[in-house]
Amino acid sequence: MAKKTALVTGASRGIGRGIAIELARAGCNIAINYASNAAAAEEALTLVRAAGGDGVLIKGDVAVAADRERMVAETIARFQRIDLLVNNAGVAPNVRADLLEAGEESFDRLYAINLKGPYFLTQIVAKRMLAQEKDSEGFRGRIVTISSISAYTASINRGDYCVVKAGLGMMTKLFADRLANDGINVYEIRPGIIATDMTGGVKEKYDRLIIEQGITPIRRWGRPEDIGRAVRAIAEDRFPFSTGAVFDVDGGFHLHRL
Ligand code: NAP
Repeated sequence: MAKKTALVTGASRGIGRGIAIELARAGCNIAINYASNAAAAEEALTLVRAAGGDGVLIKGDVAVAADRERMVAETIARFQRIDLLVNNAGVAPNVRADLLEAGEESFDRLYAINLKGPYFLTQIVAKRMLAQEKDSEGFRGRIVTISSISAYTASINRGDYCVVKAGLGMMTKLFADRLANDGINVYEIRPGIIATDMTGGVKEKYDRLIIEQGITPIRRWGRPEDIGRAVRAIAEDRFPFSTGAVFDVDGGFHLHRL
């Protein structure tokens, strides 16, 4: 694969780090965005270099317009182009609250970070990609958004999270349609239950659901590299005639079973 540059949001830890490492294995340069955990970001950069890629750290909050602009500018300044945007940064509600009690503060926070941030970051990056020459594979760029099984699964103790993740599904369709004829393919990946800091607080509950009750037909936790490998396949243009496509990387969670 020709050397490509990826901007991965929330790449300091968890799924984003797994994606960055897998892309580095494919030889990509990675702009590693993070919110505040500089030590974790440094560690991610070390792992990216060990995996064969080059990287740059970019601190910035995807919910803040000026930070989004700067993330893109710093990636271009360092690597000249962006071949792949991975909208991965995201947060869970600080407190899970029943649908009839949950407040606006949590909704606004999740909306800003998990939906408005990627929506407008995608807008900026798409415009940059449109101004780029096509690469040797014939693409100006690729865009991947990490949503969730929560895009279609009702969890009544975190409705805010479900609603904004569902919004990412429509965001993917919209940008896929807008950019389809311009050499930019757009994809959505829906991870299942993945072992990261985000799920650390509910580990015992999910251990029971996965291993004892088989909520996922493949009875194991997902790993960040499971998502990383899917993103790598997109980076390597394994799906050149697909756009707006949704990939379920969830151990079969999405299957209706009887
Ligand atoms: P995580 O372990 O909590 O890591 C979150 C990452 O996002 C960190 O790198 C964090 O940076 C960064 N981040 C948080 N807020 C940010 C902001 N405002 N601006 C920029 N970066 C920000 O989470 P994860 O489990 O890897 O989840 C990653 C994505 O996958 C999220 O969108 C999540 O909703 C989705 N997802 C996760 C699961 C799961 O089971 N874990 C399942 C489905 C979907 P710092 O290190 O600086 O805090």
